[in-house]
Amino acid sequence: MTAPLMLEHMGQEQQSTGNPRQDLMDKAKPNESCLKSTSPLLRCSFFDHARDNKPRSKAGTWEQLKPILARVYKPGTPGDKRSMPAISPAFYPPGVTRGRDNASGVGLLLLDFDNSREEVIPGELYQDARTGEPTARPKTRKVRTEEPVTMAEVMAALDCAGVASVAWTTWSASPDWEKFRVLIPLAAPVPVDTWERASELALTRLGLDPFRRGLDAPVLHNPAALAFLPGSPDPCTIRRAETSGVIFTLRWDALPAALPADLAPWQAEVMAERQAERTRGDQWWSAYRVNGRPVDFQSLDLASILEARGIKVGPPRPFKSGTKRRACCPWAGEHTGGVDDDAAVLIHTPNTWPSFRCMHSGHAHMGLRDLIEWAWGRP
Ligand SMILES: [Zn+2]
Repeated sequence: MTAPLMLEHMGQEQQSTGNPRQDLMDKAKPNESCLKSTSPLLRCSFFDHARDNKPRSKAGTWEQLKPILARVYKPGTPGDKRSMPAISPAFYPPGVTRGRDNASGVGLLLLDFDNSREEVIPGELYQDARTGEPTARPKTRKVRTEEPVTMAEVMAALDCAGVASVAWTTWSASPDWEKFRVLIPLAAPVPVDTWERASELALTRLGLDPFRRGLDAPVLHNPAALAFLPGSPDPCTIRRAETSGVIFTLRWDALPAALPADLAPWQAEVMAERQAERTRGDQWWSAYRVNGRPVDFQSLDLASILEARGIKVGPPRPFKSGTKRRACCPWAGEHTGGVDDDAAVLIHTPNTWPSFRCMHSGHAHMGLRDLIEWAWGRP
């Protein structure tokens, strides 16, 4: 970063309240009645730190949001990145906590180019918490992608697309491992239910398909994801860029089909093995019995099974002809950074077996069978 730019940022910081949420709200007020069509009202939310789950949803124009993104922020606890203030692309009604199901809509497209991929650590498997036996799940580590994406090439593509955006390098970026975030405001909010597919469509429309290799896809697909505001152990190393086009209008009337889960090779292997078992006629469920009789899986209450083992489960919400609940994942300790969020989903639909899945990539292959084996063991 050049020295004049740094001074400019410091100047803006002095004028502010020091609270990004307060600033966006205060500055939005006088202008709300005289918005031009070129300055749609953007909505997003702010958080004090990574564990803060009470969103402060704010509305304002891109011109009001940009100065907030131009400042330098410090962690609440020195040196601890997770105590940095953060922005999230979704906005919420008052009084709810952060989570996919509670969000009202998504107002920003957040791209996290961490230029990393998960690599299996040879010979290291997670252990079953109950039995201490090794599971089929290998421990992984994040390594740099072979061909990292640069901020310059992404911003050149966005410039070419003619849209407004802001980019900054992240806390853990280094000269030999470029990591950066790009924020692209959306002219109209996207409903949360369609976000996963809408965000994929947005990448294609913006000409960003060639840069998928550097992108953290789970962050892209998660409307409740957090992005720490610009900060660094050495603030002088923060690099920034922006494009000054129009506010991006995503026409999402023709969404692509639902995405297949993005499985790592070891996960695809587990799936193939299970498919082979089914083909042979092996039925994993038939080994479970209650009083000598087969378990009635259709009337199985997954929420009680989890709650009885101390796992937090959210309230049921109507979903198709049944219900859906968010829950914590029983294997949250295996998530990247050990994140214990409401990443698991329990779905109960009349006349079918209930389903379980976890949104974290390392658990994308897991389902009802894994949950039952965790709760009841393998017979
Ligand atoms: Zn999980």
